[in-house]
Amino acid sequence: MVEIHNYINGQLSEPSDKEYLDVYNPSNGSIFARCPNSTKEDLDLAVAASNSSFSSWASLKQRERSNYLLKIADLVNRDLKKFAKGESIDNGKPYSLSKSLDIPRSIKNLVFFANLASEIEEESYHQENIISQIRRQPLGVVGTISPWNLPLYLFTWKIAPALVSGNCVIAKPSELTPYTSFLFSKACIEAKLPPGVLNILHAEGLTIGREIVRNSNIKAISFTGGTKTGKEIAIEASQSLKKVNMEMGGKNPVLIFNDCNYENMIESLIKSSFLNQGQICLAGSRIYVQEGIYEKFKADFINKINDLIIGNPFDPQTDQGAIVSKQHLEKISKYVDYAIKEGGEIISGGEIPKLDEEYSSGWYYKPTVIEGLPQNSRLNQDEIFGPVVTLSKFNDDDEVIKMANNTTYGLAAIIWTEDINRAHKLAELVESGLVWVNCWLERDLRTPFGGIKNSGFGKEGGKYALDFFTEPKNICTKYYD
Ligand code: NAD
Repeated sequence: MVEIHNYINGQLSEPSDKEYLDVYNPSNGSIFARCPNSTKEDLDLAVAASNSSFSSWASLKQRERSNYLLKIADLVNRDLKKFAKGESIDNGKPYSLSKSLDIPRSIKNLVFFANLASEIEEESYHQENIISQIRRQPLGVVGTISPWNLPLYLFTWKIAPALVSGNCVIAKPSELTPYTSFLFSKACIEAKLPPGVLNILHAEGLTIGREIVRNSNIKAISFTGGTKTGKEIAIEASQSLKKVNMEMGGKNPVLIFNDCNYENMIESLIKSSFLNQGQICLAGSRIYVQEGIYEKFKADFINKINDLIIGNPFDPQTDQGAIVSKQHLEKISKYVDYAIKEGGEIISGGEIPKLDEEYSSGWYYKPTVIEGLPQNSRLNQDEIFGPVVTLSKFNDDDEVIKMANNTTYGLAAIIWTEDINRAHKLAELVESGLVWVNCWLERDLRTPFGGIKNSGFGKEGGKYALDFFTEPKNICTKYYD
């Protein structure tokens, strides 16, 4: 049994009231670890540590802060397999994915922000005899709250820009997947990151997450998670006028036209539908296919899905690992039941697969495709966040853009067409923070990342993240002839 600890003031520590949560291995439903269910007392210790470290951390040279991040990145890279294994045990995702995507991207986040911070241009304005110089200063102690689907990837995506800009951080990973952030604490200790600069607290959202948002010493919250949680956080944070960055749910449309590059599209679509068991906020969960290729597409898509291997995350052949928790699996099953009630037809999947005994107590769901649902049905409106996609037919651009925008979400959209004029026109009309044309999940970390509508507000990525974690100050100097 693994014992996970908090990381407070540079040390691993038990929760003050010795309360723990069970941590499950989704691949077989067993308990493999326990993690602290921290309380306000633990948070107070972390905030005190951060407060006392802030001025020395903020006054380090920027390159010195970056060097700490680079050192930690080296250590994660050295232990890449250990981190990848931890991520798969904790989350249920295929080891091949943790090893090729989650952990390499976590390392890249640290290295990217460590280097970017020194490349940012500073603003200044010159009027007659007056220079206004804009200095960006860290906020102080900030909070980051992250979800379970890409645990270390999204954890580092937040803490790296916060730390490199000179803030101290109280980070709360998801209580469902605390393991790799715990391993990360050990890397911070080995890298001799000054105590209090980063504190990692494990607990449920309603306990420590809420306390972090309420704490008046914490100046900003960077949140990634569900829209319902995000709304609660935004309301709570407004009481202390905190700055908030909200990255929330999605119900992303995929628009597939007759003239698309068919091979590229279908290869990519399998990933945009089912990678990480569909548990990616950017997954394309509403698929719209133009009439001319609809029937062919349907047959080919289902054939490809039938080739996907579901099961043991550590088998190199596995394409689909486990769903993160029993509760989440139940939610997915419930949505597929709604689909039938709402008049949909399940044309692939729609059930729990039968696996070997060793994995029969794990939480798995077959990649599922449902067609014939009204656009206003729950399946086309609610975020399911699992391996379930809906399929609809469309005739022309006007019809499909109405369908695509018929959602309260606005995170990402995917367009497959070889017609560059149409691609540009629709990319402008679709209501989302991010549009992929003829690709999916390509990311340049300098670009703004984030949704609109119920998918969030504020942007992460590149200088947008550094802007969020700093406040501009105008230093205005007059000189005399
Ligand atoms: P969640 O909202 O349940 O939890 C996210 C985090 O918030 C967890 O650490 C949780 O403990 C904490 N939390 C829960 N209640 C809280 C409260 N009242 N106050 C403070 N913190 C609280 O989300 P989840 O189930 O962990 O993740 C899945 C969701 O995340 C999906 O909706 C998905 O779309 C979204 N997501 C969005 C992005 C993005 O960039 N937009 C990326 C990944 C995941």
